Amino acid sequence: MAANASAVPKRSRRIVIVGIPGVGKTTVVSKVLDILRSKGKNANVVNYGTVMLEQASKIHNLKSRDEMRKLSIEAQRELQVHAATAISRMDDEIVIVDTHLFISTKEGFWPGIPMNVLQALKPTNLIMVTATPEEILNRRKSDQTRIRDEATEESLQRELGAANSLLFASTVITGCPALVAVNSEGHIEQTAETIVNAIASS
Ligand code: ATP
Ligand code: AMP
Ligand code: MG
Repeated sequence: MAANASAVPKRSRRIVIVGIPGVGKTTVVSKVLDILRSKGKNANVVNYGTVMLEQASKIHNLKSRDEMRKLSIEAQRELQVHAATAISRMDDEIVIVDTHLFISTKEGFWPGIPMNVLQALKPTNLIMVTATPEEILNRRKSDQTRIRDEATEESLQRELGAANSLLFASTVITGCPALVAVNSEGHIEQTAETIVNAIASS
């Protein structure tokens, strides 16, 4: 039987953007969305932490999104699974998920995208935003909108190392490509263009 072209679903893209706190994910992703929409793409961005916070606020007494990583791992895991389910239902042509490969908790680095979350999100692309430890440290210090964890260039180097390992481990599980997008100081637009070129070529 001949396939009905109109019945063939559009190939949807699920882009998971990761990177250590303060590297510039949310800033860059907002620019990526502007560019994609200006090209007429049906794209949407979801911030994983925001979805978790909507649910967390119903259950826990939180003053800010930065308090979620202080909750017990069990409580965070429940919120994480809840968010994965909600995000997996998004059906835009391009869905961009702004999230983390790991969360710094008092018990240590805890995976932001464990196997069950990867399976729910089904990423077609993994993109890690990165910068130098010095740049990230300065961005964390100058960003008054957030309550950032204490850090040094050495501790950021360890975070970047952990992120790198988890990024490539995730590609082995998903079979999707991983792009490392360098978000150099003052070059938000250029970083966003690099990401758009990787995901919106077709
Ligand atoms: P988090 O994981 O904590 O949400 P993030 O990775 O989303 O952090 P942003 O909140 O986007 O980081 O950016 C942190 C700060 O760095 C902001 O003040 C932002 O304006 C600034 N910033 C982002 N990218 C750049 C850049 N290329 N050059 C200079 N400043 C930047
Ligand atoms: P963000 O604004 O991206 O820093 O997210 C705010 C908070 O949401 C983070 O500090 C974490 O507590 C939580 N969060 C975001 N993504 C995840 C994830 N994939 N798994 C668990 N917690 C997450
Ligand atoms: Mg952010």
